[in-house]
Amino acid sequence: MIVMKFGGTSVEDAAAMRQVIEIVRRKRALSPIVVASAMAKITDTLIRCAQLAHQGHEDDAQRLLNETVAARHRDAAAQLVTTEPQRSVLLERIDHHLNELRTLLHGLAILGELSPRSLDTVASYGERLSTLILAAAMREAGLDAELLDARQFIITDDRFTKATPLMDLSAPRARALLLPVLHRGAIPVTQGFIGATPHGITTTLGRGGSDYSAAIIGALLDADAIEIWTDVDGILTTDPKLVPHARLLESVTFQEAAELAYFGAKVLHPSTILPAVEKNIPVYVYNTKNPKSPGTRITAREAQPTPPGTLKAIAYKQGITVINIYSTRMLLAHGFLHAIFEVFDRFETSVDLLATSEVSVSLTIDDTRHLDKIVSELQKFSTVTVERERAIICLVGEGMKHTPGIAARAFGAIRDININMISQGASEINLSFIVHEADVPTVIQRLHREFFER
Ligand code: ASP
Ligand code: MG
Repeated sequence: MIVMKFGGTSVEDAAAMRQVIEIVRRKRALSPIVVASAMAKITDTLIRCAQLAHQGHEDDAQRLLNETVAARHRDAAAQLVTTEPQRSVLLERIDHHLNELRTLLHGLAILGELSPRSLDTVASYGERLSTLILAAAMREAGLDAELLDARQFIITDDRFTKATPLMDLSAPRARALLLPVLHRGAIPVTQGFIGATPHGITTTLGRGGSDYSAAIIGALLDADAIEIWTDVDGILTTDPKLVPHARLLESVTFQEAAELAYFGAKVLHPSTILPAVEKNIPVYVYNTKNPKSPGTRITAREAQPTPPGTLKAIAYKQGITVINIYSTRMLLAHGFLHAIFEVFDRFETSVDLLATSEVSVSLTIDDTRHLDKIVSELQKFSTVTVERERAIICLVGEGMKHTPGIAARAFGAIRDININMISQGASEINLSFIVHEADVPTVIQRLHREFFER
């Protein structure tokens, strides 16, 4: 059995859903469970509607609902399901959902409140509508699809808008509801992103939570694989905007994916697939718009260890600010780091790279909203300089462990470029350093040539 998750762009309209149906059809023999996101942008729109209503702009909220949410779903449904009475039944069900949404928005407007709990209920309609249509469209196309409400088996705590699944409560329910459907040869279709508390109150797993749902369902049922169908081919050796011939990676480890995620290898957020990785279930990333592409596999460990000295990918992140902090009072030495981190903590600004010496600390941030306040707090016990328009360059690969030659090769390839803050994480699978933003294209191109084109 496999779990196939389709993201928002994969179900954004009738044409996209037709693609999905053909992809699922080809995998039918593997007993797929289909998990879908809301149509692209619908979650944002629903949240916007809820905010408008609670701010007292109910007319705008209802108009937005009608012009986008209602129109897009009714339109896709009408294109995908043309047989009667299925078509009328589907349109009626959609209207039923939409009417509930209208009532909810009216309620928010009257109460003038918008709790996380209400927000989750409103947001849940995105996935409930998209899967309602997808399941009906699959049946119309000759696939025996059965719609299951994820809120009956993804049981979560009650931290609304970022709920955590309660695996022990969910497991028996998932088995009881999903397995019989698979056993009779049908295809379960369910919602990503949503769940419910043990008392049946709707929750969501956080924005982008459908990948998480797929991993949870795969882990609960011991799936053979989880397929994340999205709108990119997979993970590449580097950014194709800078190196057009960047290569698609056949496989990466979970650790490598985690290192790359920070650099906006925007394929998926690795923490969301943790439930699958912990159970050793491979996760594949595929492109719905280019289904022939082989995709990238993410696994807990490499099937075959990468040869020492080989890299997987070169990532970068621009818009980095370096803050250099020099201790002015030796007496404070033992409490220096603590004092520094306390300041960043207070301003909820996360620190990414860090390099220290006895008397100074350099660190990087990418969120500069509180930079001025942070600097003036730090100046109470240190001398501070700030360098803007920097970038982090990061080499990633399990093959870097215990292979010192990599640094020499990397720095040799860019020996004429000014770099600083060289650091290697504890996992030893990344080597990062800072360059000036303007040097990024040259650095990435030369490193790619050095490590991937020879
Ligand atoms: N529809 C939800 C969101 O946009 C969940 C997802 O797409 O994964 O955040
Ligand atoms: Mg989405």
